[in-house]
This record gives sequence, C-alpha cells and structure tokens, in this order.
Amino acid sequence: MKIQFWGGVGTVTGSQHILKSGGRSLLLECGLFQGHRQEAEEINRHLPFDARQIDFCCVSHAHIDHIGNLPNLIRNGYRGKVLMTKPSVALSRLLLLDAAKIQEGDIKYLNKKRRERGEPPKEPIYTTADAEHALTRLQGISYARREKLGPFTVHFHDAGHILGSSLIDIEVENQRVLFTGDLGRKKMPIIRDPVQVTEADILIMEATYGDRLHGDYRDVRNRLATIINRTAERGGRIIIPAFAVERAQEIVYNLKLLRQESAIPDLPVFVDSPLASQVTEVYRSSTAYFDTETQTLVNGEHDGPFDFPGLRYIEDVNESKKLNQLHEPCIIISPSGMCEAGRVLHHLKHSITDSKNLILIVSFQAQHTLGRRLVEHQPVVKIFGEEFPVRAEIEVMNEFSAHADRNALLDYVKNMNLRRLRRIFIVHAEPQAAQAMIEPLHQLGIQEITIPEKGAEYEI
Ligand SMILES: [Zn+2]
Repeated sequence: MKIQFWGGVGTVTGSQHILKSGGRSLLLECGLFQGHRQEAEEINRHLPFDARQIDFCCVSHAHIDHIGNLPNLIRNGYRGKVLMTKPSVALSRLLLLDAAKIQEGDIKYLNKKRRERGEPPKEPIYTTADAEHALTRLQGISYARREKLGPFTVHFHDAGHILGSSLIDIEVENQRVLFTGDLGRKKMPIIRDPVQVTEADILIMEATYGDRLHGDYRDVRNRLATIINRTAERGGRIIIPAFAVERAQEIVYNLKLLRQESAIPDLPVFVDSPLASQVTEVYRSSTAYFDTETQTLVNGEHDGPFDFPGLRYIEDVNESKKLNQLHEPCIIISPSGMCEAGRVLHHLKHSITDSKNLILIVSFQAQHTLGRRLVEHQPVVKIFGEEFPVRAEIEVMNEFSAHADRNALLDYVKNMNLRRLRRIFIVHAEPQAAQAMIEPLHQLGIQEITIPEKGAEYEI
C-alpha cells in the first residue's frame, strides 16, 4: 500500500491525499487551496494528479478546504461517487454552489482588468454547472455503516468538528489507516464529542493547533455576556463577522442560552446572510447529529436551538441595508468570517467610526485580511477602497475554535493502542505547528513520524 500527499501539507488548506492498493486509488478530500489569488488559482485550476486514475473518493467534512475542488475533480474525469455523511452532503450543496458563484464573480472582475490590458479572458476554476454536476455524485452515508470500496473498507466516525464531520477509518491489506479529517474539541456546543478510535496501524493526523492551546470553552458564555452588556449599556451595536457554517449557529446558540439565563438584555439579533440562513436550515433538519444538551433544547420547546424571540434571519439585501438605519443597540452576525467580502463590510463601514460600537472577532484571521488588521488594532482601515478611522472597540475571542488544540491532539493519540500504532503522518498544519508535535509524539513511543511534503509518496 502507498500513500501520497498532494494538499494540506505544510499548510492548513487544500487537503488532498491518495491511498493506493492493488492498482486502485482512494482519494481522501478534494479541497480548494485558499491563499494569495494568483497562487491559489494556479494550484486549484490544475489538479496535481490524473482524476481519471482515481477509483474512489471519501470526504471528511464540508469545509471548502476539504470539498471545494470536487467540481474540478469530476470535470477532469473522476467517474465514481463521493462518499461523505448525510449532513456533509446537505452542507456541500450550499457551499459548492456558493463557491462556484464566487469563482464566476472573481473571474468576471479579473477579465474586465485583463481586457483593459489587452489580455485574453480566463475561464473560472469551475462554474455553477460544474458544481451542479458534482452534486449529483455526492453519496450520504451514516456513521454506523461500513462501505466496501474495492480493496478498501471505510467507516466514518463523528469527528466533533462541525455538523457531520468525520474521522475516516480505512481497512486495507490487513492494516488500519485512520484519517482524522479535522479533529474537533470535546464539550463544544451543538455537536457531539469526537469518537475515540483506538485501533490503527497508521494515523494521518491534522495538527492545525499543534503548537497552541485554546482557552477553556466553559468561559465562553461568561465573556460573551460581559462584552454584550458593556456595549448595550453605552447604547452601541455589536458586529460579529462569523463563518456561515458552524460559527454562526454556535453564536446564536450561545446567545439563546444567555437570554434564557437573563444574562444579557433582550437586544434584537440579526443573522444577516442568505448562506448562513440556509446552513441553519440544514442544522435544524439534522437534529439526530446533535449532542444530548442540544437535543434537550430541540425536544423541550418549539423554538429549538437556533431561534428565540427577537432573532431574525435576513436573506433580502434591502432588509440587510435597513439594518444600518437602526439606532438602538443590536447584535449583527454576518459573514464573511475574515471580513474580506460579503454584507459584513457594509455593517463595518457603518459602525467602525463610532466608539459606542463593538466588533467581536470570533475566528482565526489570516494575514492580509481586514479582520487581521482589526485584530492588530490598526488605527485606520480601508473598506471598499475608502479609509476609516477605527474608533469602535475591538474584542477577540479565540475560544471558539472548532479544532483540537495541542493537548487534545496528544490526548487523542495517547488513548489509542500505542502498541499497534506504528506511524503518524502529520498534515493540515503550518510547518511550525507540525514540528512542535514531533517530540511529544516520539515520547509516546511512536516509531515513525513524518511531515510529508507536497507530492511525496510513501510505502506503508
Ligand atoms: Zn474544517
């Protein structure tokens, strides 16, 4: 058996790994690489392997860096199904169509510039039609099922990262290969804890936070309440840029609990995004995947975990614009998470110069994004090409991360059968985070620990 790594190596984006046995190939993930536009376009447009040579494909969860290049895989000749859990199928539907729309929009803008320079137009990486075609290949399976794919038998387990996320457990050639996908955290709201798989010979492990520790999630609601109360008392509004999948629902869920406990005032709350609203709809119809606490909320009252009096989901763009005429304190949750595009830019533009207001950052902000500039407390920022002084208060809550931190990653490995586990491949990590995992994993007695490079192939 061989394993080859094409994406999500040396970086946390664009995951693509291939297992090969008996002349058949199983592709794990087909993620989109996200980064500088030109580099990303080059990487995403040309798959590094021949899609026609792939026999099977399994995907761990519906984040775009794990599913985002499926339309290209299928357009380039992959003829099989793409296996993922049922909630992942429902989320992928929304996210792949959204990604195609973004690609088409980007290329339209780029081609306008190219025309001005006398250069020929380019095609989008994939179109809405490509995405729609890819959707017909998605096959939802449940956690309990074992699927036979040629020489591979795959079994998905809950990874506790986002709704429907999975660890993929593969039996092949009398060995067990466990792929963590993105490993979640224990005691996260809404979803269940990651399933501890103990038996594996080979582990392909993400290590996004291999060099960092998260704050305790139990403090999240207290901190959130303090921030909201402080802003409401001075009559300000709170803008929360949040990813449309999981983070938006998680914030709403926490606000609901705070309201129930009367820990925050009854401010109007708006989730301003058609995508976040549709994603929430998928959550509402996936109650079987919730943890016990959230199940109780589902069964206990007809409002459910993602609704409460005073909360509105806004899809219409005119309704969204009207929010900026509101003068009373309120909370607006709006993508994008890194403040690079989307409706949140309008809300930031209208709120950022007033010291009564607060901007709450609840996710990782990559370099060169507006979100990062806010985190760095830059005094002046550009929004839609115009400069604005930052007078609003900026708060950062890193506690919301959906990834296991260093200790949780190590605990996961510690709880495996260490007499059996002989090799670990570290993927989905910046070089520093991956390196930081080597020493403690060696101390657990793991013989071979590998940080693969792009394109590297290993006999296992
Ligand atoms: Zn993820």
